[in-house]
Amino acid sequence: MILVVGGAGYIGSHLVKELVETQEVGVLDNFSTGHRNAVDKQAVLFEGDLGNVQDVEKIFQEHQIDAVMHFAANSLVGESVVDPSKYYQNNVAGTLTLLQTMLKYKVKKFIFSSTAATYGIPEDDVLTEKSITKPINPYGHSKLMVEQILADFSKAYGLNYIVLRYFNAAGAHTLAEIGENHDPETHLIPIVLEHLQGKREKISVFGSDYDTKDGTCIRDYIHVTDLANAHILALNALLNGDKDTSTYNLGNGKGYSVNEIIQTCEAVTGRKATIDYSERRAGDPAQLIASSAKIEQELGWVPNYSLKEIIESAWNWHQRSPLS
Ligand code: UDP
Repeated sequence: MILVVGGAGYIGSHLVKELVETQEVGVLDNFSTGHRNAVDKQAVLFEGDLGNVQDVEKIFQEHQIDAVMHFAANSLVGESVVDPSKYYQNNVAGTLTLLQTMLKYKVKKFIFSSTAATYGIPEDDVLTEKSITKPINPYGHSKLMVEQILADFSKAYGLNYIVLRYFNAAGAHTLAEIGENHDPETHLIPIVLEHLQGKREKISVFGSDYDTKDGTCIRDYIHVTDLANAHILALNALLNGDKDTSTYNLGNGKGYSVNEIIQTCEAVTGRKATIDYSERRAGDPAQLIASSAKIEQELGWVPNYSLKEIIESAWNWHQRSPLS
């Protein structure tokens, strides 16, 4: 069995949907932000907390776990600046407990969801895995700390792991009834689409004086199903013994400004947005664009979805989701 921690969340639930096709899957989630009905019915559901030793031990005692994939984290940059304690507790201390319990039961294969926020303010226009990591917010720090723990645990205890640094995950499954469903929603694409659905009065653009082509922040948006597929390749590489430790970026390699995202949403929906240009948001770098050449070369991963397709899939889901 593959244990997916945080498998009820946005990215985790999309991974589970693909993984159940080839593996026996268990999902551990405390449903603090995830959704029970987002978990594929073929997966075995364990309700519990990754930082609770008893919850995790029970799973390892009752099931043969071949690998753990860890998606459960708090992931809001702004919130992490205001409440860092929550981020160090859940993202660092919780993960440490999970890893210690894994090692106790001799489970030594681990896939970790990391982030572009580990790079901080980029010194390179396009980031490679060799770019300097210098986070500028507690969320990025918490993820980089776990990356360090993994490197040290690998040397000392023989843990095999793959770190996947996501850029901006977006979009929704094209068939299943799952999509991006955060409460509160803070991410750009769902916020713009909710506005265009008439559920929000306007869109606040956080900063229009950045040193970018139109003054708004540039990000690299990647479809959640492309992310899920990268996890499956990474898992197979660990299970086959092709890889023992690796870190990969996951992005499309193209940067889009906040204004361009709004324009693409307008084009996809045929509706016009009301925009309010407001203050910068704390902890936001001007530009984050990934080079994913390493995972392409080593594992053969290529993203399949363009920005337009990402937004079309998200819009499609927004219109049929229970939130509509
Ligand atoms: N953003 C914005 N208005 C919003 C939400 C986001 O201008 O209501 C901007 C945000 O400042 C960032 C970009 O959109 O530059 C992407 O933000 P998001 O929260 O979606 O992802 P992040 O890059 O923080 O992971």
